[in-house]
Amino acid sequence: METDRAPPWMRLGPTLPLAAPACTWNAARVTPAADRFPDTHLTLCLTHDCNLRCRYCYGGAKSKRHMTLAVGRAALDRAVARTSERLHLVYFGGEPLLRWRTLVALTERAAELATAASLELRPTVTTNGTLLTDERTAWLRERRFVLAISCDGTKEAHDANRRDARGRSSHARTVAGLRRALDAGLGLRVILVLHPDNVDLLPDSLAFLHDLGAGDFVVNPDWSADWQDEPLQARWEHAYEAAARLWTDAHRAGRPFWLSFVDDKIAAAVKGGYTPAERCDLGRRNLVVAPSGRLYPCDRLVGEDREVRAETQRRREKGNRVGRTAVTRADEGGFAIGDVRSGPDPTLVAALVARTCGMPADCLECAIAPRCRNRCACANLALTGDPGVPSATLCFHEQLAVRVADAAAETLAAERNESFLRRLGPPNMCRPARSRTPTGLTAS
Ligand code: SF4
Ligand code: SF4
Repeated sequence: METDRAPPWMRLGPTLPLAAPACTWNAARVTPAADRFPDTHLTLCLTHDCNLRCRYCYGGAKSKRHMTLAVGRAALDRAVARTSERLHLVYFGGEPLLRWRTLVALTERAAELATAASLELRPTVTTNGTLLTDERTAWLRERRFVLAISCDGTKEAHDANRRDARGRSSHARTVAGLRRALDAGLGLRVILVLHPDNVDLLPDSLAFLHDLGAGDFVVNPDWSADWQDEPLQARWEHAYEAAARLWTDAHRAGRPFWLSFVDDKIAAAVKGGYTPAERCDLGRRNLVVAPSGRLYPCDRLVGEDREVRAETQRRREKGNRVGRTAVTRADEGGFAIGDVRSGPDPTLVAALVARTCGMPADCLECAIAPRCRNRCACANLALTGDPGVPSATLCFHEQLAVRVADAAAETLAAERNESFLRRLGPPNMCRPARSRTPTGLTAS
């Protein structure tokens, strides 16, 4: 980051790193050798079905359309062929634990392929946690899975949006899943989706989850909600400030936790801005596979994975690959970039990348631009219809997150808080994402 853009807390003392630490894994990840990449993420959406009916779910209508073993195996073959070091295998849905036998079979297949190709396999499952059992938890633990469990915190915060198909509370079942994962010592991230209905409860929710023993929290705003209301934005600001105070106090008490909108922004400052590897991949390196076998640039664009409408297809065939006319709504199938058997269409991918490679015009003068997720093409596509144009809600959020994170960092830097200073150095600030979903701008 340019010096005049560095936040004041980075100048507070000689113990603070004033230059970006060596994030060698980042450099390596974006420099493929031939057509292989050191790290790839393969996200397998095992089903469109789910036992919950969260109000903010971007998966669309639930249906019993599931991924077959043949599609899953073809995806694994394709992912292994493009990977030279680490394969990050992410199970997603709907609710992937509804397809437990498929998950087991594909994991075993992935382990065989990874061993044969001398790859490290890093599996993750993103789940609502309600279908975890002791046996399943033990199996996942044995295979070194990371669990990303969606839980919005307290019962009131969670049940505001995360009810089951019969309208009943899912809180107790999700918390039971969290406890199982914690008791088994599984790597665990908790995904909290923030909505106008539960924004005020965020500090209580974080305290509740931290008391349970969780220590890694990803707060994902529901970007599709209407946040463009001043009193609501003031409540959002208040909630983030209170959450950051909890984060600060936890550092002081020697029980620090990871809080996405604070730690990500501090990490971005230390690294001089988000690295290319942290930006949207758009199908260059990673694969997101719908149950049908269609490929998408991001899990949030799979939606109901409907057939591409004839008109969209016709425009694509004419060469108008990714204009506003061709990339339309997810439920029109306009976001698919290929099929698992034929692979991503390079023209479609290149066109998407071209639309997002520059800084958005409105952001050129913005002081926090290097620390802003303004180029999250998938969130932009979903919210503004243009992968290169961020929404007003995202702009508000990014400014708020940077402001709150810098204030918290300044406080702990001035106190020379040891756990905070330790966290600033590598490898903590450069930790590779263990799963795509929890670190991005998605909700689950
Ligand atoms: S957000 Fe997740 S748990 Fe909720 S309905 Fe959608 S897939 Fe199911
Ligand atoms: S989206 Fe907003 S906060 Fe982000 S760089 Fe652009 S103007 Fe700045």
